[in-house]
Amino acid sequence: MIVLRPLAIRSPILLLCLVGAGFAASQGCGKGDDPATGSHGDSDSREVFAGELPLKIVCTTGQIADSIRQVAGPHAEVTALMGPGVDPHLYRALPSDVLQLQAADIIFYNGLHLEGRIIETLEHLGKKKPVVAVTARLVEREDKRLRQPPEFVGMYDPHVWHDVLLWADCIDYAAERLAKFDPDRASDYTSNATTYRDKLDQLHHWCGEQIATIPEPRRFLITAHDAFGYFSKAYGLKAVGLKGISTEDEVDFQHMDEVIQLLVNQKVPAVFVESSTAPRIVEALIEPCQKQDHEVRIGGELYSDALGPADSGADTFEGMIRANVKTIVAGLSSEEN
Ligand SMILES: [Zn+2]
Repeated sequence: MIVLRPLAIRSPILLLCLVGAGFAASQGCGKGDDPATGSHGDSDSREVFAGELPLKIVCTTGQIADSIRQVAGPHAEVTALMGPGVDPHLYRALPSDVLQLQAADIIFYNGLHLEGRIIETLEHLGKKKPVVAVTARLVEREDKRLRQPPEFVGMYDPHVWHDVLLWADCIDYAAERLAKFDPDRASDYTSNATTYRDKLDQLHHWCGEQIATIPEPRRFLITAHDAFGYFSKAYGLKAVGLKGISTEDEVDFQHMDEVIQLLVNQKVPAVFVESSTAPRIVEALIEPCQKQDHEVRIGGELYSDALGPADSGADTFEGMIRANVKTIVAGLSSEEN
């Protein structure tokens, strides 16, 4: 059995963030009150839309925007601040983004510290309009599926969209908030959300079936940062990120050595680069494996934290998940080794 030790906290910025959150907790703010978990948005739940249609909905990531678009249908114009390949951990709002956020009727974001550098802007806007973290209900009910990785002390792993059922719960919550905000069209939002949930249920089962075709000893998913913890738990892989939960984390050389030994010992045929993270850390695994007579190659690019470009097939939430599963299955099922 392979046991990899937990990653240490390597980023001073992340550490400051954790210290800050600890300070907030010591001031009597529980997880539910932390702006990064989004429950402050609930204070705006009495607000009701009174403007002209279409509603202006602004979302932080592409995956939120695509899913909200399915729920809102023709009643809203939905935009995403972060385009393809954008890393949400490092993302800072541009002046044009602030204007977009100011013009929005309602804002949806991920929460769980994913958008660590724009949380203050969102918190500020939350005093004027509904600003909803799609993960807020998971936190409020302390959902058992939320991951609390040891290197992310006291925080939840934000990459919940990679477990399709967990994401379906987030979008159900977002749909409820949208229905409350725009009660005249609530029945449309509820009906669209039910149809979308059925689609996501099917997608979830398809993911499980596909991953089950990979020979069991090879079910290791090695990527640049630890974005696939939920995915791996949901679909039966073991995920190993070279960096921690945030792309701001640095790589620990001892941890790199452990990953190299894992690749060699388990004869894992492929490692994966990510669309929103530099590929060089993952590429650095290839040569040391070759020196130990194990050929490992780049199995392809995964969409970890952002959707793919237009017309890539991964420019929707469903397309992103399907593209990742296909890349992982093809990479790990290869018989070349
Ligand atoms: Zn990430």
